[in-house]
Formats: sequence, structure tokens, C-alpha cells
Amino acid sequence: MKDSYNRTINYMRISITDHCNFRCQYCMPAGIQWTPSDKLLTFEEILTVCKIAVSKGICDFKVTGGEPLVRPGCIDFLRKLKEMDGVHSVTLTTNGLLLEQVAEELAKIKIDSVNISVDSLVEEQFDKLTGTKGNLPKILSAIDCLQRYNIKTKVNAVLLRETVDQMIPLALLAKDREIDVKFIEIMPVGLGRKTEGIPAKEALTILQKRWSDLHIAKEVKGNGPAIYYRSKELQGSIGLIHAVSNPFCEDCNRIRMTSQGILKPCLCYEAGINLREILRSGAGEEKISVAFDNAMTQKPEAHCFSHIEDMTEQRGMSEIGG
Ligand code: SAM
Ligand code: SF4
Repeated sequence: MKDSYNRTINYMRISITDHCNFRCQYCMPAGIQWTPSDKLLTFEEILTVCKIAVSKGICDFKVTGGEPLVRPGCIDFLRKLKEMDGVHSVTLTTNGLLLEQVAEELAKIKIDSVNISVDSLVEEQFDKLTGTKGNLPKILSAIDCLQRYNIKTKVNAVLLRETVDQMIPLALLAKDREIDVKFIEIMPVGLGRKTEGIPAKEALTILQKRWSDLHIAKEVKGNGPAIYYRSKELQGSIGLIHAVSNPFCEDCNRIRMTSQGILKPCLCYEAGINLREILRSGAGEEKISVAFDNAMTQKPEAHCFSHIEDMTEQRGMSEIGG
């Protein structure tokens, strides 16, 4: 699909739940109220939306949340999405806690890649950041398990001021593994507004000090805006996402759907189209198709993370889908 700025939109990020088994301090506010299940789209409804998305040329899907693996039936849904005619890729973003037990099934359905979020390799700090206890070894074991099943793996880490000394240890996960480690600037979404991050430029300087031969990798990877770097000392690559400091909006290729079925043209603005209402009103698929067209016209030229007073999105990342 083309939006009104002539950008091709071919990638959709779908949040299948706002529930989570972690309480990351920059993502889940204390005392969060979960969305009642009847307000979440059913998997069948999500698949209907995906089928229409595919007919419009959106063929790459990221499944996220909340934590997607806490929703019963997630793997079956991923399988159906993978098998859908016209779908080009299906990827998953997870905190990794429940990953090892489903890795074999993910390999069987030929998931295109899995992103695991890890912000620190120091157990105490990991516990504090995720609001849980003793889970880091399970996450690291899940990363290795994905390697055994030959599943393409990416590690996501948010660039937090408090974890700046974790950048090199995290990047070293790519030393002997063919995985990508991606560092992402914290965005002023939800509690992200109250969290101190570091700019990707500062992160690059830290990485270059450690690997003097670090250079931009030529290959294009995934559907996202990361710039990838390689060093001959690392088997995998290091990605940097300048989400705030150097917006990549002119190349934006994405649309989102929240767990409640709001089709959302941009992370920064509240505007969106309620597909759940359309689906449950008994209206035909044609109406959903028109909703996609309307979302394209609503897609703004750029986000406004650098002047957050203009942001209208008040929802948190777990509800929208990070
Ligand atoms: N629960 C899964 C996970 O943690 O990977 C999927 C959902 S989570 C919202 C997806 C990603 O968004 C995680 O890597 C998380 O660190 C990131 N994230 C959450 N809030 C963010 C923010 N304000 N800015 C940048 N990234 C954020
Ligand atoms: Fe859960 Fe992911 Fe948010 Fe952490 S970042 S609280 S794992 S949804």
C-alpha cells in the first residue's frame, strides 16, 4: 500500500495481548489494569485482518505484545499466519521467559525470526529492570536453544543510562553466535517518558572504542530501521536504532494494530481506526479494507518524539505493541 507521502507500507506489527509476565520498569506501570479478554481481538479476528492486510500488499508481520507467549494459542495462531497465502514473513518479539518450551514448535512452523529482549546480563540488575526474580538464566538458555533449532535470532536491548556498562557484554552475545544484537533508543511512549536513555550516537562511540574495525554492514536485514555494523571479531552483527535522535520516518514501512484491534498509523499519535467495532458490527471485509485505505491517509509524515508536547498517544508500549 502507499500512504499519502508515497511511502510503501508492507509491514504490520500486531500486539496480541497487553498481558505480560514481566514488569519492565520503563514499560509496565505498577497496578496496571489488563484489558478484559472480550476486548482483545480473537485470533480468528486477527487472522481476518491479516488476510485483508495481505490483499493490500502488507505481507510481513511482527507478532508482539505485551508478552505474546503468555496468550494461550499463540503458536497455533503463528502457524496459521505463516500458512496464510501471500504472507512473506512472520516474526515474534518476546521477553524469552516461555520461549524454550516452544522453540521446537517455532522451528517446525518455520518462524522467520525471533527477537528476545534483554537489557542487562547482570542478574541483580535484570531482576530489578524486569520486576522479577531469577529469570536471566532462562532467557540466555532460550537464546542458545534458538541457535540449536537454527532459528534466526535477534537480541533487543533498550539504551538505558543505567545499563550503559552492559552494552559491550550484550554485544558480545554476537561474538560466537550468528545473531544480531540491536540497541534501541528509549522512546517517550508510556513510562519511557520518565526513563533516562542514551542516544544511539553515544552507544556507537562506546562500541567503536571496543571494536575499532566496526563498519556498517552492507546487507539489509529485517523490516525495521536498524543500521547494522560488523566487526571481524563478531560472528553476528550489532544494530542501532536511532528512533528518537535521527528519525527514519521518511522510510517508514509500517502500520500497527493494538491488542484491542485499533489500526494505528503512527506510534506517536493516538489516532487510529477501531477494527474491533467494524469486525463485530457484522460489516463485511470490504469495510476493513476501506479502514486500511483510511489509515494510509491518516499516516503522518513524521513522529514528534523530539517535541513530546505534540504527542497525543497516552497508551503504554505494552498495550500498543512494542
Ligand atoms: N514482551 C515482549 C518483549 O519484551 O520483547 C514484546 C513487547 S515489548 C513492548 C517489545 C520491545 O519494546 C521490548 O524490546 C522493549 O524493551 C521495548 N520497549 C518497551 N518500551 C519501550 C520504549 N518506551 N522505548 C523503546 N523501546 C521500548
Ligand atoms: Fe513485558 Fe515486554 Fe513490556 Fe517488559 S517490555 S513489561 S517484557 S511487554
